[in-house]
Amino acid sequence: MSFKNKVVVVTGSGSGIGAAAAVLFAETGAHVVIVDCSETRANTTAGKCEQYGNKVLVIIADVSKQEDDEKIIKQTIETFGKLDVLVNNAGIVLKGTILDGTILDTYDKIMNTNLRSVVVLTCLAAPHLAKTKGCIVNTSSIASTKVKNGYPYESYCVAKAGVDSFTRASAFELASSGVRVNAVNPGPVLTNLLEHAGISGNWERSSKSTALKKASEPKEVANLILYLASDKASSITGACYLIDNGMALM
Ligand code: NAD
Repeated sequence: MSFKNKVVVVTGSGSGIGAAAAVLFAETGAHVVIVDCSETRANTTAGKCEQYGNKVLVIIADVSKQEDDEKIIKQTIETFGKLDVLVNNAGIVLKGTILDGTILDTYDKIMNTNLRSVVVLTCLAAPHLAKTKGCIVNTSSIASTKVKNGYPYESYCVAKAGVDSFTRASAFELASSGVRVNAVNPGPVLTNLLEHAGISGNWERSSKSTALKKASEPKEVANLILYLASDKASSITGACYLIDNGMALM
C-alpha cells in the first residue's frame, strides 16, 4: 500500500492504535497530521513519523470541543492545501452503569469525545474529502454490539453503537461525493486506554475472553485502518469490521 503525498489526519495519535496508524501512514509515504490532547504523546509519535522524511504536522486539540475540531481541519488545509484521509480514532473509556447510579456522571464526556467529535469532524472534513475523493475510517469497538457480563462502561457502548450507525449514515450520504466511510471494531488491544482513564485494567482477563486467547497489538488494528483507507478497499463503504481475536464468538 502506498499513501505517497496523501494528507492523513489521525486523531488520538499520541498513543496506542492512533500512534501505530500514524507511523504506518508515514512509513507508506503520507504527510501525517498528529492530533492529540496530550502534547507529550503527540510529539513522541511525531518523532517516530519524521524518520520517514515526509511532512508531519502536530495539532494539540481536544476533539470533544467543536472549536478544536474546526482548528484541526483549518490548520490541515492551510498547511497542505488538501485532505485525503481522516481517521476518527480519539476515544476514552470511563466507568458508568445504571445500577450503581454513575452512568450520567460520565455520559456527556464519553459522548462528546467518542461520538460527537466523529460527527463534527466528518461534517467539517466532507467538503475537502469530496475534492480528493478521499475517505474516513472511524475507530469504533466490539462494545458497539457486544455487552459482556461485568463490563461497567455503558455510555461507551452507546457512543460506539452511534459511531457504527453514523459510519453507515455518513457512508450513504457521502457516496454521491465519491467519499468512502468505514469503521474498525477492535476487541481488546494492548494500549494505554484504561491507564489513561485512571482505571486499573486487566488485559490478561480480556485476552482470555477471546477465542484466540490473546489481545491485539495496536499495529494489527492499524493495518486494517490502512487497508480500509487504501485504494485496495475501493469497493468498501459503510462497513464496520470486527478485529477482535474472535471475542464476538464467545
Ligand atoms: P490510548 O489511550 O492508548 O490512545 C488514545 C489517544 O487519544 C491518547 O493519546 C489520548 O491522549 C487521545 N485522546 C483522548 N481523548 C482525546 C481528546 N478529547 N482529544 C484528543 N485526543 C484525545 O487508547 P487506544 O486503545 O489506542 O484507543 C484508540 C481508540 O480505540 C479509541 O477510540 C478506543 O475507544 C478504541 N478502542 C480501543 C480498544 C482497546 O482495547 N484498546 C478496543 C476497542 C476500541
